[in-house]
Amino acid sequence: MEIIKEISLMQARSNELRLQNKKIGFVPTMGALHEGHLSLVDVAKKHSDIVVMSIYLNPTQFNNKDDLKNYPADLEQDFRFASARGVDIVFCPLSEDIYPKGFQARVEVDGITKGLCGATRPGHFMGVATVVAKLFNIVMPHKAVFGEKDFQQLQVIRQLVKDLNFDIDIVPAPIVREKDGLAMSSRNKLLSPEAREKASIINRSLEWAEKEVKSGEKSAKKIISGVGERITGTGIGEIDYIKVCNLNTLDEISEISSPALLAIAAFFGNVRLIDNCLLSTND
Ligand code: AMP
Repeated sequence: MEIIKEISLMQARSNELRLQNKKIGFVPTMGALHEGHLSLVDVAKKHSDIVVMSIYLNPTQFNNKDDLKNYPADLEQDFRFASARGVDIVFCPLSEDIYPKGFQARVEVDGITKGLCGATRPGHFMGVATVVAKLFNIVMPHKAVFGEKDFQQLQVIRQLVKDLNFDIDIVPAPIVREKDGLAMSSRNKLLSPEAREKASIINRSLEWAEKEVKSGEKSAKKIISGVGERITGTGIGEIDYIKVCNLNTLDEISEISSPALLAIAAFFGNVRLIDNCLLSTND
């Protein structure tokens, strides 16, 4: 596995691969790799000849200093995991190169960032869109894989690519879960044993909602309160938001028509977790 740190070397390598007619698949990450990230590598491999993974803890997408400070990092272990999974090139730039002194550009995607995480994490998606636009210009991939776990992020990137004419296919990848159903996340490591155990309620409450909607429930309000009660009923879970949204626009809806997105963000202890599922009616 090649490890590239300099932006200009990554660009040169990608230009070389493109001249050789190789299809480049790209998996952007912030490191602390787990099976969720590595499943994206499997998807990228199916769609490309060469897989490039970036590992970059992007400070501009953190609206909370402690969240950034506490974010787990283990670059050597990430290299081992990436290499074992068949990543060809890891791109791990330095922050001083990504955001050199005098850096002034910002990329903002408007409507779709207004709700959900965009509402409770101001500036987050501007940080995401800006760094992803930069990474796309550096790695120059043909395909880029994003996980459905961060569903709003996936839709923001699709909008970004469409609006700014990036010639890149965005490939979604399904959510990978722990045995008890908790969506894998680098932040899971930060959960206390009690919070870790109780956090599995998030997925169980999503499953409950899926069943309710399948058996005819159409009221978003009822679904939201049922999910909310289950999460707060643990005594440790605190709701950041629970919303039922149109799958494409992410606008909130009150009556569930298939398919809709149920999205959750909740704190377990001081760790913020997100998850989502599709709600489909039997109509
Ligand atoms: P992150 O390192 O958290 O920025 O995530 C990098 C990529 O991995 C994003 O596209 C995420 O959506 C994806 N990802 C993170 N966790 C999971 C998971 N449990 N299942 C699927 N994809 C995931």
